[in-house]
Amino acid sequence: MFTRTPNKLTGATRLFCREVNSDTSPCYVPVLPDIHAKPRACFINVRAKVAQDGGKELNGWQLWTWPKVFIEAEHHCVWKSPEGNLIDVTPKENGEKRIAFLPDPAVMYDHENHRRIDNIRKALSIDPDIDEYLNLAASLYRLIEDGSMGTGLTAKVLARDLSNLQSRRTQIHGRLTRRYIKPKDFCPCGSGKKYFRCHGKLKDK
Ligand SMILES: [Zn+2]
Repeated sequence: MFTRTPNKLTGATRLFCREVNSDTSPCYVPVLPDIHAKPRACFINVRAKVAQDGGKELNGWQLWTWPKVFIEAEHHCVWKSPEGNLIDVTPKENGEKRIAFLPDPAVMYDHENHRRIDNIRKALSIDPDIDEYLNLAASLYRLIEDGSMGTGLTAKVLARDLSNLQSRRTQIHGRLTRRYIKPKDFCPCGSGKKYFRCHGKLKDK
């Protein structure tokens, strides 16, 4: 995946934020992982942080973008310290040092059933492949959630559907990569290297 924290909170990013929640504005929040915090477990991490050090939970959306391809908002939670500073205590698997965050206190996490809200996604170019890519992401989310909720799908059917969707997604990802990333562009993974010296060396990654 080539999504990163948006470089700027202007233009397409701000427009998208207004569509997601027009009552607040996006801001950058530093990532300072707490010692016991786990990746992808922001709601649990922040709850533990509040129990230990006070402060508050702040729900909202973490923004990710693949410039010119799409932007998405991921249901997320950050810690508001007793001094009022916002801190993301959840480590990032891609090593991001700051996130772009849109507060939205009303989007609650279902702690009892461990259910997040699915990402909100928006294409940034007119391209049927981008639309299909985003639809596949939504289908994968539903399938994984349904599977973990045990709604009658057998493990075999689930695994087959999952692998079909994933291989189609890999195929489209390859097409989008060839269409939107030139060899001499900076690699969208954020390494600071040219694409052809970084992920462009690997096939479709
Ligand atoms: Zn790279």
